[in-house]
Amino acid sequence: MCGIVGYTGKQNCMSILLRGLGSLAYRGYDSAGVAIWNGTTIAVTKERGKLFALEDALDKKPIEGTTGIGHTRWATHGEPNVVNAHPHTDAKGQLALVHNGIIENYRTLKEQLLREGVTFVSETDTEVVAQMIGKLYDGDPKKAVLRAMNKLEGTFALAILFRDEPDTLYCVCNGSPMVVGRGRSGSFVASDIPALLPYTRKVTFLENRQMAILQKNGIRYYDRDGNPIEKEITEVEWDVEAARKGNFEHFMLKEIHEQPDALLHTIEQYVSSRTGCLREDAFPWTKEEANQLKRLRIVSCGSAYHAGLVGKKFLEHLAKLPVEVEVASEYRYSDALYSENEPMMLISQSGETADTIAAMRMAKSRNQETVAICNVIGSTIARECDRTLFTYAGPEIAVAATKSYLTQTVVLFLLALDLAEKRGWLTHSKVQEQLERLKRVPDDMRAVLARKEQVQAYANRHALTKKMFFIGRGLDHALCLEAALKLKEIAYIHTDAYAAGELKHGTIALVEDGSLVISVATQKPLLSKMASNMEEVRVRGADILAITNGSSGMEEHCDEQWDFPEVPDMMAPFLAVIPLQLLAYYIGVARGCSIDQPRNLAKSVTVE
Ligand code: GLU
Repeated sequence: MCGIVGYTGKQNCMSILLRGLGSLAYRGYDSAGVAIWNGTTIAVTKERGKLFALEDALDKKPIEGTTGIGHTRWATHGEPNVVNAHPHTDAKGQLALVHNGIIENYRTLKEQLLREGVTFVSETDTEVVAQMIGKLYDGDPKKAVLRAMNKLEGTFALAILFRDEPDTLYCVCNGSPMVVGRGRSGSFVASDIPALLPYTRKVTFLENRQMAILQKNGIRYYDRDGNPIEKEITEVEWDVEAARKGNFEHFMLKEIHEQPDALLHTIEQYVSSRTGCLREDAFPWTKEEANQLKRLRIVSCGSAYHAGLVGKKFLEHLAKLPVEVEVASEYRYSDALYSENEPMMLISQSGETADTIAAMRMAKSRNQETVAICNVIGSTIARECDRTLFTYAGPEIAVAATKSYLTQTVVLFLLALDLAEKRGWLTHSKVQEQLERLKRVPDDMRAVLARKEQVQAYANRHALTKKMFFIGRGLDHALCLEAALKLKEIAYIHTDAYAAGELKHGTIALVEDGSLVISVATQKPLLSKMASNMEEVRVRGADILAITNGSSGMEEHCDEQWDFPEVPDMMAPFLAVIPLQLLAYYIGVARGCSIDQPRNLAKSVTVE
């Protein structure tokens, strides 16, 4: 789930490992450790808590050596303590390994090893792998790792260092990402690209049950049976600067500010700069196929689920295509009925979200067409789906999604325009008009960002609020769900989003003097309805902030109004989301929360 780094080369590896772990820290973790060959033995240092605890320990007692592995753990089996932290070793001290993921059959394997007399020191599923490889080892590390791997069920990325081959790292994975690359001083492995960027932009993604053997002078690849294979090298387009905070206090704030560029980059990939039209080859369906589509089923989690809800409104309104949006963890265990000509769309920033992957595989097993919206080239979802529509958000480091969510909604909007034209609901010139307007949205976004002090002042005034409600209708309701999620993630405020018309069917009982209500009111045909809903809560004592599309006449129904430059209703989500993200951010800051790595959360949820 969290971070793995490994290095073998000419340089001392301690600082390389720590730097790598630092760049993966955004994925969330609760303990950290390293194992380094120090010339006589594999030295292991582990600490509970944040990376600086490990750094302190290594400062006091440095380990010299040029081959090592490091890990940040997000506990799944056994509490977050030093013993359960990785790296884990086998009983004979022949090897050390780090693991991301969950070994689903660890109980069976552990019982077998216990019967064979192995004693365990930790509660983790990971130690079972270390002990099993130790048992299978007879002088040939590759053979032992492959034999062990073929017994493992579940998700894993493993980097293993053997005492007998202290200049080599053995790496395998299944369902958990692993990326390797060669730098000038040696070979690197990590669970995500940012850890490799200071050394190389040419990377290779390991696929399920493949093996990489890293040495100072090169990397060799093997299939699950141990046969050598060739692997493609991918050039990462973003650079190390993109994964740094720059002048911003937090990655989240930086990423909120990157949204105008992220939107532009995404448009550039889907709209030809030569003709100004949607690019033929950028979308999944031909005109004929588009007309045969009966329904689209979007399956995703968290913010990507909310992006799906916004997409549903775009696709239904513009292209008249019925859309169902499902939470992946529910969908995978439901009856999951589907009909002909109903493709499944998977949305995932990382392309590694475990529940979304499971839904994708269900679709594939029954030959249902799969289309992904994803930010990471080479990720599991991008590789396995029939088609992937990439978002061009660049690396997103903060755990809370901002620019990835925005670009997902933009891709859905462009797809809706493409389908609207192909299905005969919008003429070519109407589509062009929309595209022309969309190209100016980044400037509007900058104008909204320029008013962040206003948001900050409001956030400071309301930081201690205990109750907060978001209300909206249609597209605005979808947006409210995302706004409430941001506030829960970043500021730990128990808040919720409601369809404004639903209030009087129950929720309004919660509204009392001083309750804070954020009303998102950007959709012209629904404004009069929103005005009534705002009055309903106002007379019950609520303090109302309205977010509106241009000056909309809502000011008389609220205590404060933030309007943004007027855009067509369908484009309002691209602007309205910014003050909502900033609000969560500044309230989180005012409450002293851990913005980029909120408690209990991980960036890519690669376990169920
Ligand atoms: N399941 C393993 C553990 O709990 C690995 C967790 C991780 O991916 O960090 O130790």
